[in-house]
Amino acid sequence: MSDKADIRAGRLSGEKLDANFADMHPPLTPSEAIIDADRCYFCYDAPCTTACPTGIDIPGFIQKIRSGNLKGSAHTILSENIMGGMCARVCPTEVLCEEACVRNTHEDRPVRIGMLQRYATDPIFESNTPLFERQPATGRKVAVVGGGPAGLSCAHRLAMLGHAVTIYEPREKLGGLNEYGIAAYKTPDEFATRETEYILGIGGIEVRHGEALGRDLELDELRASYDALFLGFGLAGVNGLGLDNDRLEGVANAVDYIAMLRQAPDKAALPVGRRVVVIGGGMTAIDIAVQSKALGAEVVTMVYRRGQENMNASDYEQEFAQIRGVSIRTWAKPRKLIVKGGHVRGVEFESTQVAGDTYVLESDMVFKAFGQKVLWDELHDTAQILELEKERITVDGERRTSLPGVWAGGDCVFGGKDLTVSAVQDGKVAALSIDRYLKDQGSRGE
Ligand SMILES: Cc1cc2nc3c(=O)[nH]c(=O)nc-3n(C[C@H](O)[C@H](O)[C@H](O)COP(=O)(O)OP(=O)(O)OC[C@H]3O[C@@H](n4cnc5c(N)ncnc54)[C@H](O)[C@@H]3O)c2cc1C
Ligand code: SF4
Repeated sequence: MSDKADIRAGRLSGEKLDANFADMHPPLTPSEAIIDADRCYFCYDAPCTTACPTGIDIPGFIQKIRSGNLKGSAHTILSENIMGGMCARVCPTEVLCEEACVRNTHEDRPVRIGMLQRYATDPIFESNTPLFERQPATGRKVAVVGGGPAGLSCAHRLAMLGHAVTIYEPREKLGGLNEYGIAAYKTPDEFATRETEYILGIGGIEVRHGEALGRDLELDELRASYDALFLGFGLAGVNGLGLDNDRLEGVANAVDYIAMLRQAPDKAALPVGRRVVVIGGGMTAIDIAVQSKALGAEVVTMVYRRGQENMNASDYEQEFAQIRGVSIRTWAKPRKLIVKGGHVRGVEFESTQVAGDTYVLESDMVFKAFGQKVLWDELHDTAQILELEKERITVDGERRTSLPGVWAGGDCVFGGKDLTVSAVQDGKVAALSIDRYLKDQGSRGE
């Protein structure tokens, strides 16, 4: 093991970096789209629609692509899922709509639903064509805490229904993990920012940046000032490694590093280790591993405490990481960080299957990529007022919390899938429930 950690910027040329971070799935050409659309059986009671968390009428939008009605197709998609553009890029379709496609049994290959969805929606975002109108103002006010996919989806639907919405968002940009988390090669060319602007274009949504629940606002204060409240503050915290010295130089939270990477004007300026170890087995672990490699790390190893079949990352994602040069090791957990000159230089792992079995992986950087959680300490009284399960907010089918007038959705609620598309669905379902509640109150003269 050499004396100094090898971490530096500019490991690869600008050209190589551009290639490594290029669009993972370039858009379909018109003829490719027609050929794929023609493969759809237009099933009655389509299983793909049932498998989509937002319930998009998939055969309906594919039929419109076939007949050349792209605008109508986009309308079908976006009326169920206003982030249909982002979801087309980031949904793990292999375990959602495309897994359910009947073509899998007949031909071992589904209709490329995600790619077709992108084909139909891209022109709308490129030309910024409005497809939805805001209904007359109702005079009712709703606060949305957190401007990620859940909050934006909720805000858009509420605004469409004529309610006045205020989004409270501590960060400089809206979009949540769409802007700061999703891998750069899944959403290049500032797509997340364009999509957010499109959503705000409906009107009736005020955004208060720099204001966080718990730091600048309290739950009771918001409940008193608004007719209803939606909580979509995601998971802002990460668990430690459970080792004494995990605050060392060279040990980082994967989500923080990814946020920096997503916002970096020049990726060549980002320092990355020659040898990188990633601890975790979900999407975040895959993303930090692949992106470290794309930045020029020579050896990237993901280590997961259980087997590959137990990982949250799908088989497709695991294979993708391996194709991009990431090694995956399983059934081991970190036992000790190896330190030289105050900097991490390696990790000693112990087997989770065979007692006493250990090995060391040299590393210049170690990423913690597991155990994202709600930072309840920073949210003050919120945790005491709301009913929680496993440290996430309990909601019913309409995304109502235990507190009257308060709804929640996205990653901060219990029982969700921790996917963009599920957060969008939560926001939509909550908005429709809030609308019914406000109308009911109105009819009772409250
Ligand atoms: C690295 C990474 C990669 C991912 N890749 C994929 C993928 O490829 N495909 C996929 O489907 N899903 C992916 N996910 C999951 C997906 O991004 C999330 O499920 C989704 O963003 C959840 O949306 P949300 O609105 O609940 O939370 P978030 O996107 O986290 O948004 C929460 C918002 O609330 C704000 N906030 C936080 N605290 C407060 C506060 N106290 N007061 C007010 N606002 C607050 C935040 O700043 C943020 O804007 C990934 C997640 C990570 C971490
Ligand atoms: S939103 Fe996602 S799951 Fe639903 S149809 Fe589109 S790509 Fe498939």
